Amino acid sequence: MITLPRFLHVRHSPRAFCELDRWYFDPRYTQGRCPICGWTPDGVPAYPAWMIAARRIDWELFGLLLVADILIILGLVVAHAAGLLH
Ligand SMILES: [Zn+2]
Repeated sequence: MITLPRFLHVRHSPRAFCELDRWYFDPRYTQGRCPICGWTPDGVPAYPAWMIAARRIDWELFGLLLVADILIILGLVVAHAAGLLH
């Protein structure tokens, strides 16, 4: 029998069990609620960790800075091609 090393094992996801519907679900992917009846279990994460991290980033400002960087690089390329830079 082949067994994986301990560090390769998938961590157990925080599963919840709805007694009313007799249904297991992962509250991270159902916005913290039972997908059938809407029951909210206590003490479980409502969102995946990557989604919480992504919501902390101001994507509009990030995009604005990215566009500004691209315009500066494009300006340098054009200035170099026109012989304005030595
Ligand atoms: Zn339910």
